[in-house]
Amino acid sequence: MSGNPLYEIHDPRFQQLIIGSAALDELYSGCRWAEGPVWFGDANQLVWSDIPNQRMLRWVDGGGVSVFRSPSNFTNGNTRDRQGRLVSCEHGLRRVTRTEPDGAITVLAESYGGKRLNSPNDVIVRSDGSVWFTDPSYGILSDYEGYKSPQEQATRNVYRLDPETGALDMLVNDFLQPNGLAFSPDETLLYVADSGASHAPEAPRHIRVFDILDGKRLENSRVFATIDKGIPDGMRVDTSGNVWSSAADGVHCFAPDGTLLGKILVPQTVANLTFGGPRRNRLFITATRSLYAIYVTATGAQVP
Ligand code: MG
Repeated sequence: MSGNPLYEIHDPRFQQLIIGSAALDELYSGCRWAEGPVWFGDANQLVWSDIPNQRMLRWVDGGGVSVFRSPSNFTNGNTRDRQGRLVSCEHGLRRVTRTEPDGAITVLAESYGGKRLNSPNDVIVRSDGSVWFTDPSYGILSDYEGYKSPQEQATRNVYRLDPETGALDMLVNDFLQPNGLAFSPDETLLYVADSGASHAPEAPRHIRVFDILDGKRLENSRVFATIDKGIPDGMRVDTSGNVWSSAADGVHCFAPDGTLLGKILVPQTVANLTFGGPRRNRLFITATRSLYAIYVTATGAQVP
């Protein structure tokens, strides 16, 4: 433990990733459930989702907060593709969309096997342009974060959308609630959170890791790390391969071997995070009602 109440140091390596004098800045408060942070370096802004309030918000460095999109169809996770286009998971319409430069919405995925998706939750784009996303049931459980509806898929899966053919492949179907996901810096590994314990205490609250074969298949599933406070939701990986995961008490940082290095303690339950800022060394954290940010020495691996 350190003397700094902002951090829990579980391994000396964590000292090299954080800044002892850094502050946790609360950039905005007033969300109901903040999620899906995505950094736009070209506009020096962060966009995120406020799911129950049916809106997406935008924080501009030096310029304050404004509404980015409303209604948002209960958008949850967001990312950008290699062309910088916004890719989003919509609970409300149970689909993954891309926002074109002119603002038009392109539907990337909304069904599998002739049945509607559950409620896409989080999404990432690989350097080959493929779109990978999770499809738990949170957005159809109630009218709070979407529209209460029957689940049509037999399971809650992880999918990959092929950039050439547009075909949707189901990669894994044995999660209770697949949630946040991230690639290792070299894109040979995929991390996926199982947040099943959100509604069943004995259910998984861990992150699994898979080997990626041929850029399109997963094998060798194993538990990477278990979250000891709350559940894992969104996560990001830094350029050294450390995994930064959301949890009830803050952000947990794991070494590539799964060792818990330390925590950044946050006053509210963390749902997601992303690296941003001009140097990609500022961690933006969506935590229940608020957007927080803190500078670290680590640098986000995700591009753009
Ligand atoms: Mg999530």
